[in-house]
Amino acid sequence: MIDLRELYQDIILDHGRHPRNFRMIEHPTHTAKGHNPLCGDRVTVYLTMDGDRINDVAFQGRGCAISTAAASLMTEVLKGKTEEQARELFAHFHARVTGGAETLLSEPLAEEMERLEPLTGVKAYPARVKCATLSWHALEAALKGNGATVKTE
Ligand code: ZN
Repeated sequence: MIDLRELYQDIILDHGRHPRNFRMIEHPTHTAKGHNPLCGDRVTVYLTMDGDRINDVAFQGRGCAISTAAASLMTEVLKGKTEEQARELFAHFHARVTGGAETLLSEPLAEEMERLEPLTGVKAYPARVKCATLSWHALEAALKGNGATVKTE
């Protein structure tokens, strides 16, 4: 039997130490910064959109293992998705980590949501929810294109 909690912890530690897509995109079509004053996490999300599809997504920043792992996993699931799919995933993920009402996900997104599952353990630690959602809030701001720094407070 695999201990899921242990497996999830391993995934978070791995992505926290070796974040994927941790780089700057030189000429992003969309970008935004996020700041979580509660924990001190800072993240910049970069996107290259082709129409409404996410061609490339990357991030840089400094923060705790959870915020880094969350941003890393986010970039992995978002590549190739449409803006609408990205919003759908965030809505669902947000509900999972805050204990809110879950939205229905269409099939390809349900698979991607499984990859975000390790992060849903933060539900038990309200202060860490902001760490896990920071990069998603920055993504949302980037898609809106207002270029401002979003704060989780
Ligand atoms: Zn944090």
